[in-house]
Amino acid sequence: MDASFKIGCHLSSAGGYLAMGRTAESIGANVFQFFTRNPRGGASKPIDPVDVADFIAYAAKEGIGPILAHAPYTLNAAGAEPRVREFAEETMADDLNRLEYTPGALYNFHPGSHVGQGAEKGIELISSMLARIFTAKAKKDGKGFSTTVLLETMAGKGSEVGRSFEEVRAIIDRTENALAGAGIAFSPLGVCLDTCHVWDGGYDIVNDLDGVIGEFDRVVGLDRLKAVHLNDSLNVMAAHKDRHACIGKGKIGLDAIARVINHPKLRDMPFYLETPNDLDGYRAEIALLKTLR
Ligand SMILES: [Zn+2]
Ligand SMILES: [Zn+2]
Repeated sequence: MDASFKIGCHLSSAGGYLAMGRTAESIGANVFQFFTRNPRGGASKPIDPVDVADFIAYAAKEGIGPILAHAPYTLNAAGAEPRVREFAEETMADDLNRLEYTPGALYNFHPGSHVGQGAEKGIELISSMLARIFTAKAKKDGKGFSTTVLLETMAGKGSEVGRSFEEVRAIIDRTENALAGAGIAFSPLGVCLDTCHVWDGGYDIVNDLDGVIGEFDRVVGLDRLKAVHLNDSLNVMAAHKDRHACIGKGKIGLDAIARVINHPKLRDMPFYLETPNDLDGYRAEIALLKTLR
């Protein structure tokens, strides 16, 4: 197979890391995504060092990675209530500390929903949280996280922040200005582009993929792009809905998806499917996508 094509999907983490690696292998995937804990929040399972070591050896042998850990949906750094924001901060700090067991991972989160406080306030709350988490790590051991922390591009459902490339850029700038102010030179921030979300958010990746990629580069910078969530969408462009569809079964369509995975600026990205599928469905989608490379 084309080893340069990094393709996989969201997997259950119930059986641990090695089980996810083996499942990925069994469906033709060489990357995968998983939730760090119950997607609606709650406690994380303790890390099993033997499982992690076995997985790292297996992943090296089979060429699996990078792995993408997805934060729970309930994490809202832009919430109006202090306890909502505290939960987000404690959860993300805990997730990132745990991910140090698997160096070089990616961590993806939904920037948040400003719940009526306004995007400007939301951006401020998200940036200040990120800066506090990164500063605490740097003060503790003089190093940054080995994980790259990705802001996911959002569809703009409800009061979601991160609905435009400009909002994503503003969160990055604000966070890194705060870090610079604290004398910290390293930032782990990147971006995960979700094809369903940007389409629902009003970026026409079907008729003008080059234009959208060019705009991303001008506003955010392609050097920040570290991963792609590869999803079709049930809705028309700019619907601001966020309903994922199986590949080729939605309004984005197979031809446009094929252009995404082959675009010169995107083709080296790891692609993670979050389509409504069971494992057999994912196996079939991955096989289909390989024929399109
Ligand atoms: Zn997501
Ligand atoms: Zn996504």
